[in-house]
Amino acid sequence: MKTWKSHALPQLPGRMPAIALHETTQQRVVALPETDPASMYVCGITPYDATHMGHAATYVAFDLLNRAWRDQDRAVSYVQNVTDIDDPLLERAARDGVDWRELAADQTALFHEDMEALNVLAPTWYVGAVEAIEWIVPKVEELVAAGLAYPVAGTNGEPDGDIYFSVEAASAATREGGPDAAWWLGQVSGLTREQMRPVFAERGGDPDRSGKRHPLDALLWRVARDGEPHWPGASLGDGRPGWHIECTVIAQKYLPQPFTVQGGGSDLIFPHHEMGAGHAFALAHEPMARHYTHTGMVGLDGEKMSKSLGNLVLVSKLRADGIDPAAIRLAILANHYRSDWFWTQELLDDAELRLARWRDALHAAPEGSGKPLLSELRAALSSDLDAPRALAAVDAWAAQALQAEAAVAGDAGNGASEQDADMVSDSVEALLGIEL
Ligand SMILES: [Zn+2]
Repeated sequence: MKTWKSHALPQLPGRMPAIALHETTQQRVVALPETDPASMYVCGITPYDATHMGHAATYVAFDLLNRAWRDQDRAVSYVQNVTDIDDPLLERAARDGVDWRELAADQTALFHEDMEALNVLAPTWYVGAVEAIEWIVPKVEELVAAGLAYPVAGTNGEPDGDIYFSVEAASAATREGGPDAAWWLGQVSGLTREQMRPVFAERGGDPDRSGKRHPLDALLWRVARDGEPHWPGASLGDGRPGWHIECTVIAQKYLPQPFTVQGGGSDLIFPHHEMGAGHAFALAHEPMARHYTHTGMVGLDGEKMSKSLGNLVLVSKLRADGIDPAAIRLAILANHYRSDWFWTQELLDDAELRLARWRDALHAAPEGSGKPLLSELRAALSSDLDAPRALAAVDAWAAQALQAEAAVAGDAGNGASEQDADMVSDSVEALLGIEL
C-alpha cells in the first residue's frame, strides 16, 4: 500500500551513541540490540477516527527511535500496518451510512496527511489487512494443522467454523524448546490469567464465547456472515482475519525473525502483543521481537480521551484551525513517551512560544554552540528517548543565544555564527523532527 512522503534528513557530523530503551517484558531500560538493519514494527490505526493525539504521540515516539537509528548510520526496516477491515470500522461505516471501503480509504489518507505534517518518517512498508489476507490464510491453516488452533461451532444463529488460537496448546508446544526460547501466556504482559480476563473483554476479546477451549483463546479467522465483507479462506471457508494474526503475518513477511523492536501504545500490550507473540512463536519457533516498547496514554484536560466520551483531539482539526504542526509535535515531545499525560491548551500555547523562541534564537546562535548542543541531544535521545531532556537542552541553548544577543544590542550580528545556526537547525530537524 502507498505510504506518505518523508522529508530528507540533514547530515550531521559524528553519530548517536548506543541506544537504551525501556523494555516492557523486563520492565526496565536496557541496551537495544545492535542488529543491522534495525527493524521495527509499530501497530497502525484502524481507519475510522484518524488521527487522535494518542495515535500521534505513539508514532512521534517511534519516529524518534527511527531518527536515532538513522543517526547511527544504520539501515532501518520499518513496517506499519493499517487494519482496514475490522469490527469497529464496519460498525462506524454502518452507523454513518457510508461504504466501509470509502471510510477506510478517506481516514487512511487523512492519517497520512497528519503524519506528513507532523514530520514522521514514513515506514519502509505500509501494509493493509485486506492485502495481507492471502498471506494470513495459509498461516492460520498451519496453526490448525499443528493442533494450535481449532474451529468453534456456531451458537445463537452464528455460523460454524470461526477459528481460535489455543493459548494452552501453544503455551505447551512453544515451551518444548526450553524456557529461554519459549512463548507462554503472560510472557509479554506479565499479567496473571485472572488479570487478563477483564482486559481481554474490554479490548475486543470474547472470553464468554461458548465452545472455546479457554476463555482467553483469541480469534484468528471469522467466517463469513450475511452482510459482512469476506474473502476466500481456502480450507477455512470464506471470512476475514482476526487482528493479532494480521500483525504477526505482516511482520513475519517483511521483517527478520525476531525483529528488533515491537512498538505501540500501552493498551496494545495485552491482548494484542501478547497474542501476536504467541502466534509468531507458534508459526516460526522464534520470538516475534527482541524488544517490546510501549507508549503512555494521552488524555484531555484530566479526562481519559476516548471515542465513547467524544473528546478526541484530532491532529487534522488542529491543523484546520491553523496550528503549526511543528508546535503540535513539540507539545507531544514535551512529555516523555512512557508517561501518561493530558493534552491541554496550555501545553499547546507553551509549545508555540517555545517554537517561536527557538526560531528567534537561530539568528543569534553563539559561535561554537552547535556541536555541544548536538551532543546533548544525542545523549538525551539515546537515554530512553528522553525528549523532554532534549527540549530543555535546546531551551538552554536558545536562552544563551538570546542573552548574548541582548548583551550586544545595537551591534547587530556580533558574535552570531551562521555555521552554528545551521548545525542547530539541522540537529533539531534530524533528531527531533522539528523544522526551525
Ligand atoms: Zn498490531
